[in-house]
Amino acid sequence: MTKQVKKIICIVCPRGCEITVELEDGKIKSINGYSCPLGKQYVEKEMVNPERILMSIVKCVGGDLPVVSVKTAKPIPLSRMIEASKALADIVVEAPVKIGDKIVENLLGLGVDVIATRPCREQREK
Ligand code: SF4
Repeated sequence: MTKQVKKIICIVCPRGCEITVELEDGKIKSINGYSCPLGKQYVEKEMVNPERILMSIVKCVGGDLPVVSVKTAKPIPLSRMIEASKALADIVVEAPVKIGDKIVENLLGLGVDVIATRPCREQREK
């Protein structure tokens, strides 16, 4: 039987509780240190299929900035982050872009869209 103890900082809220998870043969035996049910749920998910919001940039043409900052509308599996970042590297959008505009629909078939988090205004002729 393999026993393991992991310490995880809960990132669900700014309190940042340190949660201790005891595992036996890879299965959760106990979870301690959380201050609310959200922390317990976070750790359970973290042990099975950790997810994160991806923040990145994509190229923008014809705008006042060369890039637009973007993020996934929902968390995606941590295991797909590199693949997702590479997919965004090939995306080019045209100005104007508004905050909240959908930049990519259904990224990598994950059922999650990528949205703009900054505007890119159309560049005016001088
Ligand atoms: S366990 Fe609850 S209170 Fe503690 S950081 Fe997580 S969400 Fe916040």
